Amino acid sequence: MSISKNLSKIKSTLPSHVTLVAVSKTKPVADLMEAYHAGQRIFGENKIQEMSEKWEQMPKDIQWHMIGHVQSNKVKYMIPYVSLIHGVDSLKLLKEINRLAAKWKRTVDCLLQIHIAEEDTKFGLDEKEIHEILNSEELKTFENIRIVGLMGMATFTENQEQIKREFLHLKTIFDQYNQLQTDNCQLTTLSMGMSGDYQLAIECGSTMVRIGSSIFGVR
Ligand SMILES: *Cc1c(COP(=O)(O)O)cnc(C)c1O
Repeated sequence: MSISKNLSKIKSTLPSHVTLVAVSKTKPVADLMEAYHAGQRIFGENKIQEMSEKWEQMPKDIQWHMIGHVQSNKVKYMIPYVSLIHGVDSLKLLKEINRLAAKWKRTVDCLLQIHIAEEDTKFGLDEKEIHEILNSEELKTFENIRIVGLMGMATFTENQEQIKREFLHLKTIFDQYNQLQTDNCQLTTLSMGMSGDYQLAIECGSTMVRIGSSIFGVR
């Protein structure tokens, strides 16, 4: 099937409150342009350099989401244009994003990545760490970032019950903090669900799905 057909098929199944991030990592610009011509405007990449190269070549009404693990020393390359950073997992990283965003006179939206999977290979904060960040005094001084939600990845398994348990765990944490309303922190976005598990993620409360292979084919 073509990229545009895959896209329209997926979009027809998404509730209106769920945002689709087309995960285009490793795919050539021509493939992204096919999705663009089919109306897609939000793309997710997991490497800053690859995302920046695509940003330079592609139309400027695209919103670029960084979905991968972020190294502090590479933040500067995406700060001029990035629209949402999904994988923020420390106060130190938030501080660096804030510093560079201020330089560019921007406010950059971020999601805190929460560790929900059993595997310890997946990055993310535990409940104690998220509590510490959201309650820290230093966070209040960051005027050029906004924490707009949480992101998580379930364990890579066939076990639907386990995936569901992990998604519901993240939803519980999200609900716990979405009352919190400060100048730079309002949790409204819950980024969870990929090609293999996005329907389940939506049932569990996801508002943003990150779908790659079901749109662009296997990598
Ligand atoms: C690659 C990736 C996705 C998309 O995975 P698919 O299985 O291809 O849909 C989603 N989220 C993150 C963080 C990824 O790295």
